[in-house]
Amino acid sequence: MHIIIAQMSHETNTYSPVISDLARFSPGGKGTPIAGDAAREMFRGTASCMGGYLMVAEAAGAQITIPVVAGAPPSGAVEDQAYEYIAEKIVHAVAQGCDALFLDLHGAMVTSSHEDGEGELLRRIRDVNPDVPIAVALDMHANLYDDIVGLSTIVAGYHTYPHIDMYETAELAGKILLEHIVNGVKPTMAWGNNPMLPHIMRQGTDDQPNRALQARAQEMERDGALAVSVFTGFPHADITQAGFSVVVATDNDPELAHQLRDELLDEAWVQRKQFVYQLEPLEQSVAKARLLGESQSDEGPVLILDHYDNTASGGTMDTTNVLAEVLAQGLEDLAFCGIYDPDAVKVMRDAGVGNEVSLSLGGKLAMPALQRHSHPLNLTGRVRLISEGRFPTTIAMGRGLITDMGVTAVLTVGTVDIMVVSRHFEPVDPGCFRAVGIEPTERRFLMLKSRIHYRVGFRDLAREVVECAGLGVCTNVRRPIYPLDNVATRQSL
Ligand SMILES: [Zn+2]
Repeated sequence: MHIIIAQMSHETNTYSPVISDLARFSPGGKGTPIAGDAAREMFRGTASCMGGYLMVAEAAGAQITIPVVAGAPPSGAVEDQAYEYIAEKIVHAVAQGCDALFLDLHGAMVTSSHEDGEGELLRRIRDVNPDVPIAVALDMHANLYDDIVGLSTIVAGYHTYPHIDMYETAELAGKILLEHIVNGVKPTMAWGNNPMLPHIMRQGTDDQPNRALQARAQEMERDGALAVSVFTGFPHADITQAGFSVVVATDNDPELAHQLRDELLDEAWVQRKQFVYQLEPLEQSVAKARLLGESQSDEGPVLILDHYDNTASGGTMDTTNVLAEVLAQGLEDLAFCGIYDPDAVKVMRDAGVGNEVSLSLGGKLAMPALQRHSHPLNLTGRVRLISEGRFPTTIAMGRGLITDMGVTAVLTVGTVDIMVVSRHFEPVDPGCFRAVGIEPTERRFLMLKSRIHYRVGFRDLAREVVECAGLGVCTNVRRPIYPLDNVATRQSL
């Protein structure tokens, strides 16, 4: 059997000013995406969808072709040139012939020309091969369209957020597809969505209602459904189908697929208020963190989340207002990961390790979609260290892969260490601090530009977590607001 395995993965934040070009989909942010043996070597055995697909294909003794593995951190609409390059690699390989196709897609890709990037890819694949069986693994933050479901043979999505079951999701999708080819299993899918945008900060699977929804989906799988996927959706996209959806696949039982789908959609609708996030003013959150940090404790640091500027939701990773507030309120013994600012890294390199430097940090990427601005912070500090910024991921999410922060410099201002990085990434592995000589468990405060994924690596080492609503393109519109809500008076807020 000849199986093609490919990745085309992007969560597009249509409000993000960060450019999504081909280099962003490529190793080290340069050149073109990897493929073939290099990709196989990089992903085999890793906690990723590619890792899961490779295991299934190798166990089946299949001949494997990997035309492209293209994944980029979330950012703005994917440039046409990048999309055409990636899609063409996959479509060309399929046109050469194969028995099955395993696709690692995200399910929220918007391009300059297509609001449903995955659907467009599947349409092109079906143009050259209407019949090839296709397995699709999707992120829980997928925004679903008809063609993603209608043109694939089986769809499976993650059950966890933080995403620690990517390997298992692809394994499930791949195995169902092989059962279809070899044993005549007939995946029959029903999908639907609800008119609701769950807030990302309320989507974690440790929290209700998503915890119960995912548990019920897994129970349905144990009871005989092939794959049951609850997608909380990605709200930072101005597209028609952003939001909550469900796909249920049964073995040739359309009635059951519809029934299970409706049960999950109904339950999510009943619980919809729990998906709303309550904001707190920034000064208040930082003051709360400061008080927590002042109490004597040996139970680990207080963790501060600068969550509205999260790279893994499309953030610029360079807004400064939470950092400014933390410095203004005088929090001591804090390590922060971090600010994206390659120019500042260069200034610090030129100054040299151990030397004092004055620089303008962050706030450099304009955010026209927000109509609010983050400003650079003028800081004077000491260059503590400069690193190449690469370390092996050891947590359950992406284990075995390399995290690449780009050249990273640490600026020490008083007792605050600020990591300044040259690549966008979400700090979810404590290794990000250790890679630059900071032991996270020994600090009074840690601050991260992260929202839910931090839980995999940081929750157990932090004694308290304080969510700080800063500034960034992961901010949802303020609510209530007319006409999205029924607002009675102008003073309702
Ligand atoms: Zn996700």
